[in-house]
Amino acid sequence: MVRIMVIGGGIAGAAAALALHKAGFEVTVHEAHPSTGEDIGAFLTLASNGMRALAQFDAAEPVADIGFPITTMDVVDEAGAQLAAVPLGEHENPLARYRCLRRAELGAVLQSEVRRRGIPIRYAARLTSVTESATGVTVTFADGDSASGDLVVGADGLHSTVRSQLDPTAAGPDYAGQRVFYGYTTEAAAPDDAAGRITMVRGSGAAFGYLVSPAGETFWFARVPGPALTAEVVTRTTPGQWRDHLLPILRPDRTPAADIVAATDDRLMATNALHLSPGTRWHGRRTVLIGDAAHAASPATGQGASMALEDAVVLAKALRDADTPGAALDAYERHRRPRVERNITVSAQLTTSRTTDRTPPPGTDGPPARDSERPAPRVDEELLRLLDWDTPLPGTRRPA
Ligand SMILES: Cc1cc2nc3c(=O)[nH]c(=O)nc-3n(C[C@H](O)[C@H](O)[C@H](O)COP(=O)(O)OP(=O)(O)OC[C@H]3O[C@@H](n4cnc5c(N)ncnc54)[C@H](O)[C@@H]3O)c2cc1C
Repeated sequence: MVRIMVIGGGIAGAAAALALHKAGFEVTVHEAHPSTGEDIGAFLTLASNGMRALAQFDAAEPVADIGFPITTMDVVDEAGAQLAAVPLGEHENPLARYRCLRRAELGAVLQSEVRRRGIPIRYAARLTSVTESATGVTVTFADGDSASGDLVVGADGLHSTVRSQLDPTAAGPDYAGQRVFYGYTTEAAAPDDAAGRITMVRGSGAAFGYLVSPAGETFWFARVPGPALTAEVVTRTTPGQWRDHLLPILRPDRTPAADIVAATDDRLMATNALHLSPGTRWHGRRTVLIGDAAHAASPATGQGASMALEDAVVLAKALRDADTPGAALDAYERHRRPRVERNITVSAQLTTSRTTDRTPPPGTDGPPARDSERPAPRVDEELLRLLDWDTPLPGTRRPA
């Protein structure tokens, strides 16, 4: 039995634990936070490819239960004129529809599945070092504890310690050129036909998106170009001050954006869009990175979580099907790197582009680039085969 230590119990880590457990491995999860850590945090959309990935390790239903479906994306210009109404992903398939939910809710539901399936999860376990040897790998934690096993899966996010252990020269994340604001309000006027729709506003000063939950709460985000926010500014700026900062940027447009932000109380947050440069080293002999630790993209394509869920499936299948762990890690990287690095590139282009290019971004079947802040990666036959649990991973040999 191969013993796998998953570092990080976020979206990638919890998903990897579920997929690896399903594949028959002995898995433990080590999470730095002292608990599941509820916070209001950002919301995200899981695309059809992410929902497909969840289904492979039998976690699509609990996630679908807490998220609300989105089936259509409206794109409007700064004058409020509709430019496009685009069906999103596999909108006709109830369990593969896009879902919107808070990031913390997604983490919590996946962790609860981890516990329900009897996979040990240790909280307040902040990894500080990884030491590989010929026969195994040992991880140590900030509290002095340590653990040993056969493989470490680094799912410790954007500022990954596992990444820097794997490659001390690895560059950390860079600022992608936009500040990201997000908020929630129950006070904004919601259109009658809001159910199942996300509206993307191609504003004059910001990319703005909003959608209304079945409970009547408006979820919104704004992506605004400008210099990076310092940690000090983020800490000392109040939600009211951010509101005052955003309103003059949004007011010139004839769209609902400014009214939605004006109707938002303290549930308004700001952060920087960050991303990793393609080319990060992903694995050693007994250490491998997944999710944001390996390939964090700026949020414009809205694919980070879905890509992390895909990673979990492909890594578990690779380890299940390949003859040796080394061959498995090679196969995982070979199948994942082109797709996730394309997502980094497309997201960076969307983040900085003010062009009138109307060519769809590569690898997407979404509307033209400027019409979509969140293009839908194609859930094509190749991806379906790659994700399908019962189909051996191409280029590996399944044990008899
Ligand atoms: C504003 C914003 C909007 C976004 N919108 C979307 C969207 O709409 N759709 C989408 O798909 N994605 C979206 N994303 C991206 C998505 O949130 C990430 O891609 C996703 O959360 C990555 O998951 P992860 O598990 O790799 O990392 P994380 O979710 O960051 O989890 C990492 C975990 O590792 C733990 N950890 C860190 N260091 C250590 C350590 N040393 N030891 C042990 N544990 C550790 C952390 O506590 C955390 O639990 C958005 C991101 C942002 C910032």
